[in-house]
Amino acid sequence: MKILKNENKLCLSCLTEHQVDTVEIVETGIFRDQEIEFSAIYEYCHFTDEYNESEEIIRRNNCAAKDNYRKRTGLLTSKEIVKIREKYGISQKDLSEILGWGMATIARYEAYQVQDRAHDDILRKIDVDPKWLLELLTRNCVRLSAKAHNKYFYNVSEQYAKNKNFYLVESIQAIYANFTDKIITGFTDLDLDKVVEVINYLADRVSNLHKVKLMKLLWYPDFLHFKRYKKSITGLAYSALPLGAVPEGYEQIVLLEGVNFDTLMYDENIAYKFKPTPGFNIKKLTVSETAAIDKIINETGHLSTEQIVKKMHDEEAYKCTPCNGLISYKYADLLSID
Ligand SMILES: [Zn+2]
Repeated sequence: MKILKNENKLCLSCLTEHQVDTVEIVETGIFRDQEIEFSAIYEYCHFTDEYNESEEIIRRNNCAAKDNYRKRTGLLTSKEIVKIREKYGISQKDLSEILGWGMATIARYEAYQVQDRAHDDILRKIDVDPKWLLELLTRNCVRLSAKAHNKYFYNVSEQYAKNKNFYLVESIQAIYANFTDKIITGFTDLDLDKVVEVINYLADRVSNLHKVKLMKLLWYPDFLHFKRYKKSITGLAYSALPLGAVPEGYEQIVLLEGVNFDTLMYDENIAYKFKPTPGFNIKKLTVSETAAIDKIINETGHLSTEQIVKKMHDEEAYKCTPCNGLISYKYADLLSID
């Protein structure tokens, strides 16, 4: 038992005013066949040796018990639901309206009622997918006042802009869902965190890292690592384009959070010069993976774009792949670098 505070107040037990302790006790109970454990709060009277609950404390304890059940069963807690709603600045009643639920549904979920799994999934989806929430807002706009609708539309649009990364990741993964033959991705599931790390690692060590060179400097370490260990580093798939290997989803990849570049003008042309993100550090790349990248930097980091394109054109993997086709990692054994 832990004493949280001690204050002079009307005691619910002896009904006189005196110093009352507010105490915390760990309790166990059963809710929907699940054993739950939670910290309950009581007011303790020293004179009667009784523990009491005010209306407010009853509500709070009930909520704590149900939040423990939610955590155990993988449902959002009441606080998490509040957080999602407040992120968009939507009232309890209006969020219920937007989702087409009973008017008091959200208020109940935030107070005492445990949501069912289907509603939990919907709340999770609006948390990560403001674009979908915008659709729901449009669909259910007649249920809201014009003023409220406009305010929410603005708030959710703002979150949508912030969530750009989520959509980029989704769109890249949609491309990779087509690559069911694992030899195309080097027997590694696409790991975009690692892709971002490799780009930063390269940008940190290779000067004048422009677009075409970056693509080659992604391809070589993946194929070298596959040659050595039968696994690519990033899980990227590459196409054989006229200027050499290009990762699938490249346009989206360079826009991912954590990828940094300067946009430069050369004559009439725009060039992208990649630079490391401030505070960048290696979290996921393994020793064998950085060793493969280091080897490629040593062998090719100093080459000009033309030179590295020429080197790529001489690789068997490139020569054996039809134009615009996907380059199979089965050719990694023939790579010019060991
Ligand atoms: Zn008392």
